[in-house]
Amino acid sequence: MYKKSLHWFRRDLRLTDNRALSSAFEKSKCVLLCFIFDTHILNRLKNKKDARVEFILNSLKFISKQLKQKKSKLFILNGKPELLIPEICKKFHLSAVFTNEDYECYAKKRDQKVKKILKSQNIHFHSFKDHVIFGSEVLKEDGSAYRVFTPYKKAWLNKLNPSEDLKIHNSDLNKLFPIKSKNWELKDLGFKKTDLFLLTGEKEAQKQLKKFSRSIHKYHQNRDYPYRCKNSHLSVHLRFGTLSIRSCVRMALKKKSPGSESWLSELIWREFYSMILDQFPHIEKQAFKKKYQNIKWHHNEKWFQAWCRGQTGFPIVDAGMRQLNQTGFMPNRLRMITASFLVKDLLIDWRKGERYFADKLLDFDLASNNGGWQWCAGTGCDAQPYFRIFNPITQSQKFDPQGKYIKNWVKELRNLDVKKIHFPKKYQKELPLQLGKDYPLPLVDHKTQRQKIIKKFKRSG
Ligand code: FAD
Repeated sequence: MYKKSLHWFRRDLRLTDNRALSSAFEKSKCVLLCFIFDTHILNRLKNKKDARVEFILNSLKFISKQLKQKKSKLFILNGKPELLIPEICKKFHLSAVFTNEDYECYAKKRDQKVKKILKSQNIHFHSFKDHVIFGSEVLKEDGSAYRVFTPYKKAWLNKLNPSEDLKIHNSDLNKLFPIKSKNWELKDLGFKKTDLFLLTGEKEAQKQLKKFSRSIHKYHQNRDYPYRCKNSHLSVHLRFGTLSIRSCVRMALKKKSPGSESWLSELIWREFYSMILDQFPHIEKQAFKKKYQNIKWHHNEKWFQAWCRGQTGFPIVDAGMRQLNQTGFMPNRLRMITASFLVKDLLIDWRKGERYFADKLLDFDLASNNGGWQWCAGTGCDAQPYFRIFNPITQSQKFDPQGKYIKNWVKELRNLDVKKIHFPKKYQKELPLQLGKDYPLPLVDHKTQRQKIIKKFKRSG
């Protein structure tokens, strides 16, 4: 039993069902709770109106509010964790640090550094698997990593022992370190408030999970139709840990329906990509399939900027990009359509698009984002083959048949009828607007670009 220890929050911004936190309370007489705004990360954010920083701060405020009732506070700092964590331990005479694992390359290196410094000061470092159910624990019999999702999923489901793996890790929070610390605001971090309406903190996450559980049985029928808005919208909560992944899996197993099975599959995709990043860290900068590493991409900044702004002349692509720019979110089907368009129609390096999503997505997660991009580009593990190319017009007709999603985000097309809205250029003379002036002409011809990208892949493979 430690006399005094530290719980270090990172991607687990909640007080309930938190493995490291409950273990800290179990093994210590008194626990100090802290969060560090990591300047290695914050300094890289160019946009000082970043919704992620706001989301984190609001979620921390919610934790602080809960702790106030227990006459304690969350200790928040801003700086370099490898310096601050040892300093806090020294200042408050703490003998151990508890935290939940983070599998991103930077985080793994940071934790190794912190652990080494703490060891030299005789302070224990305990880390726990909390962000995923299994991740890299699901490996093939010979110990190698799966590269294809379906067998990974089968092995994942076989391994799952709900009474053990989905246990609730709660703590009674009655051994809190009595501490006073300053109240942080965005301006103290050099950031500003965004115009977004953010539902932050553990309470909102649980509300959202409950709401979604009522329609989960229809998830498989709804998930690809963006205008229905019936997906869970929980990615941001899973990203920052305002919701435990175990609570999601518990709910999915309890509901037992084709919809809940399909949703569970998506949660397993998240674990699959987390495992892939952990096992194949080269993907952070390079193609998973090395033979596609040297494709000669088309460098066209004008096209790239048009894609970023939602001005490509392909309405479904523009709708997706405008939703992303305005809200920090895009449904999965749209992420696939817009990513595929950048790579297969504009022939632009997938890494440029990946970076743009990383800057804009509220739920940005390195593993899932990289996995999604490499899947769409055809360079990743278990990716869509390079010759199977999304047609942005037929995707639009299939998944937004009435054009409702397009009309919501591309206001200049709101008066077009269902037939014309998916590809206005085809009906140029009959439109109530002028293409090239009121709405852009298509940047490219899909059929021509399709042939070009296939050639590029063939030459590279
Ligand atoms: P739901 O459909 O309700 O799914 C439930 C949960 O399962 C999600 O919250 C998410 O945690 C997980 N999930 C669903 N689909 C996937 C998937 N294909 N891969 C991995 N996990 C999945 N997801 C992120 O969380 N962060 C990202 O940065 C990210 N970038 C992406 C980039 C591209 C190009 C693509 C194609 C997909 C990306 N995804 C990413 C996956 C997916 O699009 C989002 O998780 C999903 O749209 C979030 O909405 P939701 O919470 O309503 O998901």
